[in-house]
Amino acid sequence: MSSKKPHINLVVIGHVDHGKSTTMGHLLYLLGQVDDRKMKEIEEMAKKMGKETWKWAWILDKYKEERERGLTIDLAYLKFESKKYSFTLIDAPGHRDFVKNMITGASQADAALLVVSAKTGEYEAGVSAAGQTREHIFLAKTMGINQLVVAINKMDEVNWSKERYEEVKAGVQKLLRMVGYDISKVPFVPISGFTGDNLVEKSSNMPWYDGPTLVEALDMFEEPPRPIDKPLRIPIQDVYSITGVGTVPVGRVETGVLKVGDVVVFMPANKSGEVRSIETHHTRIERAVPGDNIGFNVKGVARHEIRRGDVAGHTTNPPTVADEFVGRIIVLYHPTAIAPGYTPVLHVHTATSPVRFLEIEKKLDPRTGATIEEKPAYIKQGDVAIVKFKPLKPVVIEKYSDFPPLGRFAMRDSGRTVAAGVVIDLKKAEIK
Ligand code: GDP
Repeated sequence: MSSKKPHINLVVIGHVDHGKSTTMGHLLYLLGQVDDRKMKEIEEMAKKMGKETWKWAWILDKYKEERERGLTIDLAYLKFESKKYSFTLIDAPGHRDFVKNMITGASQADAALLVVSAKTGEYEAGVSAAGQTREHIFLAKTMGINQLVVAINKMDEVNWSKERYEEVKAGVQKLLRMVGYDISKVPFVPISGFTGDNLVEKSSNMPWYDGPTLVEALDMFEEPPRPIDKPLRIPIQDVYSITGVGTVPVGRVETGVLKVGDVVVFMPANKSGEVRSIETHHTRIERAVPGDNIGFNVKGVARHEIRRGDVAGHTTNPPTVADEFVGRIIVLYHPTAIAPGYTPVLHVHTATSPVRFLEIEKKLDPRTGATIEEKPAYIKQGDVAIVKFKPLKPVVIEKYSDFPPLGRFAMRDSGRTVAAGVVIDLKKAEIK
């Protein structure tokens, strides 16, 4: 699918069994994104197994399975189009590891669809202390997802009741407000992922509702900001020395614009030179913009002077080397407890460095974001905390609010991701 529409990475969140897969599968079908042959196969299988209600959720499973078997290599993610946008569905809804993927994956969500079941008992379970409706709302906010649509699902199970819809909506709004969402900007849509009501066409079962359908609500997202206006940042993946050309660093432009003739500096190496030429996929270009994977020839910098993990920027606004930084993290895995002094490996853009936990400033309530303990002695798996870190090697790190791709990190130890988070503050290192 090639599309000139602006693109949005969408993550679908919500409590298990609230209907995320069903809703998305049905939506993809109604938007004409599932081919007839595949749909027939799925329907027959569902019938044979006496599980016809599962057919919509199976659409996503089917894609997932093909992806795993390598049948649809270029279908790395599910895509669909609305009137205004081309969406990529990040991760499969219901996927257990979505929290991990959301934070550590290369695929950062621009927006989220929160699915909340209105069914008696289900809504209540989702917003309970251990509920994922609560947890996911907080995580979405923590990871900087500021745009949200809420689908109140399974309306067929509650007699299409306006009262129940209003009750669930008010409850979810309260949670959203608590973590800092501007609820005047969050559309709510009563739907049935199962029957398809209000997904694409207005439901006649809910004449009391006069808002957008689900797909119309998704079109109300604002286009993610084009980081073209930001200072230049190119994390370097590799550096080559090409005979007759010279030093050629390779990387993806994350923000800003690189032009032939620009003077760039690589940090923390602190080596600068002039850009002689830029190439993408063996084609010469005069300027590169965010999203472009490029190789560029730099005069005045030797191959051995720079390396993977360095970041290129203009000399007028060089990438920031952090002496210390403060991150908001979630502990994804740890067998015991993490205390100051712990030193896992930091992974940020293309760089890695040992990083020390200097001080655990606060432990936060993962459900509300409120501080539950100042300066705790340790944190454990599942905890969310504000922590001061010290990278033990010079490394470029930016605040998440300034440069999201350079302000998102994971921390690993013995091959496992122990924590992930975003940079909320930092102290610059002195560069000699
Ligand atoms: P997920 O875990 O959030 O992805 O939930 P699923 O999409 O797998 O749905 C869980 C269960 O709820 C399945 O049995 C679905 O058939 C059922 N379900 C999902 N959406 C609806 C709906 O709108 N109405 C009804 N009655 N059942 C639904």
